Amino acid sequence: MSEHDYMRPWEPTVAALDWQMELLFKHFSPLSLPEALSKIGSRSLPERAVCVTFDDGYANNFELALPVLKRWRIPATVYVATDFLNGGRMWNDSVIEAIRVAEGPDFDLREIGLDTYDIGGFEMRKAAAVMIIREIKHWPPEKRAHAVMVIESMVGALPDNLMMTDDQVRQLSSEGVEVGAHTKSHPILATLDTEQSRDEIVGSKTYLENLLKKPVRHFAYPNGRPGIDYTFEHRDIVESAGFESAASTQWGAVSRLSDKWQLPRFTPWDRTPLRFMTRLLLNYRNPG
Ligand SMILES: [Zn+2]
Repeated sequence: MSEHDYMRPWEPTVAALDWQMELLFKHFSPLSLPEALSKIGSRSLPERAVCVTFDDGYANNFELALPVLKRWRIPATVYVATDFLNGGRMWNDSVIEAIRVAEGPDFDLREIGLDTYDIGGFEMRKAAAVMIIREIKHWPPEKRAHAVMVIESMVGALPDNLMMTDDQVRQLSSEGVEVGAHTKSHPILATLDTEQSRDEIVGSKTYLENLLKKPVRHFAYPNGRPGIDYTFEHRDIVESAGFESAASTQWGAVSRLSDKWQLPRFTPWDRTPLRFMTRLLLNYRNPG
């Protein structure tokens, strides 16, 4: 975000991303994912090696993050959920954006089995969106889609420019960013049958390869918790689809003992450079 957004306080501003990338540039060894994987294989990974990744395919990765990555020469991987490109919206963003513009002071969702939420102030709006998302996140897909449709129908038009366009993905790739796949519609894979899972995983790879005219070799699991959001079955589909790596959201640092199709990751959350750096350094001791 260019400025702090009260509806998304967990997202770094451009200024925060800038000091984070400066810190990586000055004190770490940023590598592209393919380079890091190859160096792990040949046991030549430098000290404090780090790969930067972004999930989902937000337009702000292109509009706001890319200039910062270029300024500090930080290689990055962006994992794209392909169904939302060109004007789509992830369901959680529909909730956030609907609550942002809803008329207050209350938002009554009792007809879909939720509460009436106080949206009288900025802080209350954010809290309401977080509560609703947390509540419906694990509902069955159709039930959740219906709830989101009801929520959207209660407010005016919502933004259709949150995710990248095909052209932005192409430009990102031509700027040297590694574009990876992240399924088509960002489902919790563990809730799907084998055929649906394969279609989601392979379909996103095929879409991006047609778009970029080059192989897409890296994947990230939606939500990404091993054994909860995806299983060994999905890991095997990903490997047999021809991906060379897949990222989970299990916290930890990759080592040569890591499963390449279940790479751990880490999100340091601190708001000051010293704490941010300390937490990043501690993470190297966590095998994930
Ligand atoms: Zn995601």
